[in-house]
Amino acid sequence: MRLGRTIKAQLRFYSLLLILLPLALSLAAFYGVLRTEGLRKAQGEMQAELRHHRFDVERWLGYRLADVVHVSRTDAVRTVDMSAMKRDFHAFLDAHGDFRSLVYVDAAGRTVVDMDAPAGVDLSDREYFLRARQGQPFISRVLTGRTSGKAIVIFSSPVLNPQGDFAGLVFGVVRINALLEMVSSLRRTPVDPSFLVDAASGVPLLAPENTPSIPLPSLDAPIDGPTVYRNRDGDEVLGVGLPLKNGEWLLVQERAVADILGDMHRQLLLLLAVSGLTIAALTPFLLRLAQRVTGPIERISAMSERIMAGEYGSVCPGLDAAGMPPELERLYRNFCRMAERIGTHVGELERLTGTDELTGLANRRLLADAGARIVSICRRAGQPCACLMLDLDHFKHINDVHGHATGDEVLRRLAAAIASAVRSSDFAVRMGGEEFAIIAPNTDAPHAMALAERLRRTVERIDLRQAGISVPVAISVGVAGMTVTPRYGAGPLEDLLARADHALYRAKQAGRNRVMLWDDTDHGVVAEQEAPDGEGQPEGAPRLRGPLSGS
Ligand code: GH3
Ligand code: MG
Ligand code: MG
Repeated sequence: MRLGRTIKAQLRFYSLLLILLPLALSLAAFYGVLRTEGLRKAQGEMQAELRHHRFDVERWLGYRLADVVHVSRTDAVRTVDMSAMKRDFHAFLDAHGDFRSLVYVDAAGRTVVDMDAPAGVDLSDREYFLRARQGQPFISRVLTGRTSGKAIVIFSSPVLNPQGDFAGLVFGVVRINALLEMVSSLRRTPVDPSFLVDAASGVPLLAPENTPSIPLPSLDAPIDGPTVYRNRDGDEVLGVGLPLKNGEWLLVQERAVADILGDMHRQLLLLLAVSGLTIAALTPFLLRLAQRVTGPIERISAMSERIMAGEYGSVCPGLDAAGMPPELERLYRNFCRMAERIGTHVGELERLTGTDELTGLANRRLLADAGARIVSICRRAGQPCACLMLDLDHFKHINDVHGHATGDEVLRRLAAAIASAVRSSDFAVRMGGEEFAIIAPNTDAPHAMALAERLRRTVERIDLRQAGISVPVAISVGVAGMTVTPRYGAGPLEDLLARADHALYRAKQAGRNRVMLWDDTDHGVVAEQEAPDGEGQPEGAPRLRGPLSGS
């Protein structure tokens, strides 16, 4: 997963990391320490218990050996009194349930009295016989019974005749089950029973074949760290073993790790649950914090996009800073004020660049946009649209004779006349110099002619005196109505302007101080409102002028 690059995503990610990582690490460390502690404690308890068990087992073995030693010293045995021996043996077996059989072997190693099998078997090669010959009582390892085929342990004791010479041995046969049952009955605490393991192989005594050995430390090595392994059932157990019978056997106890660590697991689960609840309770606050930081930033970004698109007015409609952190509220408010200021300045600049300074009318810079908009609205609405092109007559002369300032005044008077004559929907523009244009929507040619004529008369009546001398002011006007198919210039507006301009040209040619209408049907100017001193012939295509955006 790739970490999102937004502030919101990173804030969320790192806050969660800040909570979860220390929690996970401390839990892991805590778990490790507690587990080791728990296992060590259990190991100590099990070792203490095993020591008691070992004592019990060794005592039991000692008693069984003492039983056999006692038999080996009876008169019946020492004097080899067969009938007395059999009677005593019977009585012994009846009284000692752990023994399965009792056998007397002579000095040559042959069985003489056997309570379980025919006599006369040669046992002179057996370890217990060799030990007896050396005068030692002996407890064998686990053997397989000759007659029963069962696992047995033999307890043997040498027999000395009344003269004190070696006269054979007596051995008792104990089924290993008796021993194992005794071991498993040893319980001081209500935990799993102990069991015996062959120390050399590590396999439990009497275990079925292929039973895995128990990985307890070897006898030579001190038992230190807890030994944890999987038992035959696949459960994880802690095993502790104590050597027994001169290290031949191990007395082993196993306890399930899950039982030992159960309490700890429950405590850790509780800790996890509490932490989880804390995180769950904190998360909404974190998310809200992320939202409180990124929300205003996103708003400011959206605002900056609106500014880039030139929409200054609606950038901060209500200046709603509720719920923002103070730092961001300041940024947000400042940004809104900045946007408002930029909007005001840009608006002023736009107004200034689109306004003719001398007359206050729109300048030619606005014509392309405003004019085209009016023309296209008219065309879509199927309404007529007209253009008036006005030019002061002999203005150079006025300048020359009455001065430039008077010329300016004439321009201002003419602009004022235009402004008061047009409708609010009309667009009046100073094209440059002493030339003006009016784009009049929803106005057909006759009405445009009427407007032009009204204007011409108004101008004619301008009473301007300079140094007592009257300044004669007059205009010529070219009028054109919008046609269905534009033919001149790049588009409908250019077509309209070109034809009005040509009509103006004709009005000038016809002698000035007059209004002329362009008629598309015969490619010439046909209507003339007034031509006091007519001159020129209207014909041919209109002269096309440069691009509208220039001046
Ligand atoms: P016509 O009747 O053929 O239009 O002749 P005209 O003299 O009006 O035309 P011409 O193009 O010869 O002269 C226009 C004059 O307008 C020349 C220029 O000095 C003057 N003019 C242009 N702009 C201004 C301005 O802003 N103020 C003043 N006072 N004069 C201007
Ligand atoms: Mg001119
Ligand atoms: Mg002129």
